[in-house]
Amino acid sequence: MHAPRIPVLEVDLGPGIRAFFTTRDGGVSTGPWAGLNVGTAVGDAPGSVEENRRLVEDAAGGPVTFVSQVHGREVHLVAEGAAPTTSTAPVEADALVAPAGGMAVGVYVADCVPVLLADPGSGVVAAVHAGRPGVEAGVVTAAVQAMVAAGADPAQVRAAVGPAVCGRCYEVPEDLQARVGGTVPDALSTTAWGTPALDLPRAVAGQLRAAGVRAVDRLDVCTRTDERFYSHRRASAEGLVTGRFAGVVRPPSAS
Ligand SMILES: [Zn+2]
Repeated sequence: MHAPRIPVLEVDLGPGIRAFFTTRDGGVSTGPWAGLNVGTAVGDAPGSVEENRRLVEDAAGGPVTFVSQVHGREVHLVAEGAAPTTSTAPVEADALVAPAGGMAVGVYVADCVPVLLADPGSGVVAAVHAGRPGVEAGVVTAAVQAMVAAGADPAQVRAAVGPAVCGRCYEVPEDLQARVGGTVPDALSTTAWGTPALDLPRAVAGQLRAAGVRAVDRLDVCTRTDERFYSHRRASAEGLVTGRFAGVVRPPSAS
């Protein structure tokens, strides 16, 4: 395997498992999407996104399946030997699960929480896109349940909660905060300037622990303030559109 041409933030989810988050660096997109945009539905040139995804596949060491993310709690199980799909495919889901020997799976985000999971014992992996609606819907819980159905032991699962807007930056209206906090109390937060907020990374970590996952690693990187990453909120504040970075996990080879 050759060295990736793009810089990635690698996370250790166990032997034989490749897991990482991309940044803006290393891609071919220009303008407001400048860099390694992997989002297909954000107005960027399709050829650029295609080339960027090729760079991500190089870094993953093989094809990566993405689907159409819809802020729900559907889980897409990538069958062994399945052909790669892309986010333009008709499959709609916000969690992808792949077995040992299967294809790498990925999600694309710009403030929402990307979560990568793996059970080194069974080799079952998952990638999850958890934005505010996904946290309310319990998409990470659904992902862990699907991993267990595919043969994973939740107590052995390792999770990485990736770069996302933090609880000191994610301001929301008071009624929305109250609704989300009523379902997921861990989400309750206050911005650095003292207004109602949601802490989605903390909420996701709590949901993972409640689902039986003990090894939860939070990267504690805020996309809103760290310009290495695409941020929907930062771009919107500047009147701009923006791209998406990826979280990718590749299962170990089948034994
Ligand atoms: Zn922040």
